[in-house]
Amino acid sequence: ESQIVPGLTHWAHPGFFNYFNSSSSEPAVLAEMLASTVNVNGMLWRSAPIATELEQVTLDWLRQWMGLGDGWFGILHDSGSLSNFHALIAARQFIAPEYRISGMAGDLIIYASQQAHSSIMRGAIAAGFGSNQVRLIETDDIFALRIDALQAAIKNDIENGLRPCCIVAALGSTSSCAIDPLPEIADIAREYGVWLHADCAYGGALAIVPEYRSLFTGIEKVDSLVINPHKWLFVPIECSALYTRHPNIFREAFSYIPSYLESSETTINYMDYGVPLSRRFRALKLWFVMRAFGRKTIVEQLRRHMKLCYWFAEQIAAHPSFELIAPVNMGLLCFRLKESDKATQMLVNRVNDTRRFWLGTTKLNEHLVIRIAIGNLRVEKRHLEDLWRELIR
Ligand code: PLP
Repeated sequence: ESQIVPGLTHWAHPGFFNYFNSSSSEPAVLAEMLASTVNVNGMLWRSAPIATELEQVTLDWLRQWMGLGDGWFGILHDSGSLSNFHALIAARQFIAPEYRISGMAGDLIIYASQQAHSSIMRGAIAAGFGSNQVRLIETDDIFALRIDALQAAIKNDIENGLRPCCIVAALGSTSSCAIDPLPEIADIAREYGVWLHADCAYGGALAIVPEYRSLFTGIEKVDSLVINPHKWLFVPIECSALYTRHPNIFREAFSYIPSYLESSETTINYMDYGVPLSRRFRALKLWFVMRAFGRKTIVEQLRRHMKLCYWFAEQIAAHPSFELIAPVNMGLLCFRLKESDKATQMLVNRVNDTRRFWLGTTKLNEHLVIRIAIGNLRVEKRHLEDLWRELIR
């Protein structure tokens, strides 16, 4: 208590609104402890049969909860960043399988919006695409990717002898939870034969709630997608689910089996589908959370968070000094003081200096914007009333 707790940033505190606030839950804490106790390594089915099978079971449940059809293969990674990285490499394998042997030639192009998460750029750089090979496409007035700009960029690249490789659509972008127009993007991906990846790392949780499923229209057409249960499903980090309709492409991209890892089973060996060999028993915490809460309770929690968001957005909209900067698509509010960026920053500093709340900031349309993410199991209306009072004061 004397040495560790003072050095903690309390993500579990209901006054923590920065980043994509995520709270753990009691069943998941217990599962983490049990997983560490048995300490199985899920590289092969035979090295951890139940970890391998439970990963398939839980990811199949999550698929069903999200309303996805049959035919998806899922794998758990530690982070959304790593899931995105693996999807980019699968795209490379799909478009240019020869580069697994020769290395990249610098002609494959990735397309994502200017609002795409930084892990797309970082993943592309790490995978050897090069930052010059990533086109960050302009967005519209609600921060969603502009189809005309995407189409123009692809045409231009083809004319210049380059090869479109992957389009990344954000369904819940990091700064503002923008939703890229997936049905139109899917048509373009099909027209040019390009891999389509959907980054729903944060927002994918909302697909579990029936009345929000329309935000994900077109999701059946993507080649891969990521959703992080560690963002808005009460599972502690690290837990990111990567789904694909083409597990064979991932195997072709990643499988490389030395003699000491050979096995005769025809079951899934997760080491064949990604970079990591050693793999924690991550599915246990997801299973505990899904079973302990059940779908109904999780849906209720997400609805509760959305209601809190709408209430807060009403206060902002009704106040003459504030303005909302983006639609409230998911559990995130983006707003600012109309006066200036400087005043907005001073306000954030003063609220954060109370140490009772932690608000985040981002930039949208070149303006500083306050970000409030509502996703904690323990956050209640009274905490938001309190925050609103503090902002006004
Ligand atoms: N994608 C989006 C849209 C995100 O918002 C984030 C993180 O906030 C990520 C990917 C990366 O996820 P992780 O933090 O698990 O690496």
